[in-house]
Amino acid sequence: MYYARGVPSDRERKDRLIQTRVPRDLEATLKSEARRRRVTVSHLIRNVLEDAFDLVDGVVADVDRLVSDSVTLARNVGENARRLADPARSRSGEDHADLADVYAWNEVVLQRATACSSCSAKMARGERGFVGLSDDPGRRRAWLCSSCIVALGGAPREEEA
Ligand SMILES: [Zn+2]
Repeated sequence: MYYARGVPSDRERKDRLIQTRVPRDLEATLKSEARRRRVTVSHLIRNVLEDAFDLVDGVVADVDRLVSDSVTLARNVGENARRLADPARSRSGEDHADLADVYAWNEVVLQRATACSSCSAKMARGERGFVGLSDDPGRRRAWLCSSCIVALGGAPREEEA
């Protein structure tokens, strides 16, 4: 896979075309989900792939986890496909209500704005946040803000001077 993540005008110029065959029912699912989200099928597929690879980006510093992350990545790609097939599931706000599936939190710098799964505080691009590592690949990605990590008993790492 090769394309630059940049501003849209750059992206237009640098994007590469990748073609792939998909089963008929997946095509129908992609088309209906794209309609629902009011994006093109191409855009939807790109978003799903970016989500899947961002998961790896978030933990890539942890070398010991690389192998298991590859397995997790494969599971998450499958999960994203299942979520597309069942849009109600991706809208479920209760997905991480108890965070019981999260076995660890990994500190990362956010590329995209998101919200804390615990207190719903907005988390901005460029901010430090904590991404949940889940036992259950069926769950959506969980986030914790710095305040919630402190509440959990974990002190955020000091910034290196
Ligand atoms: Zn929070």
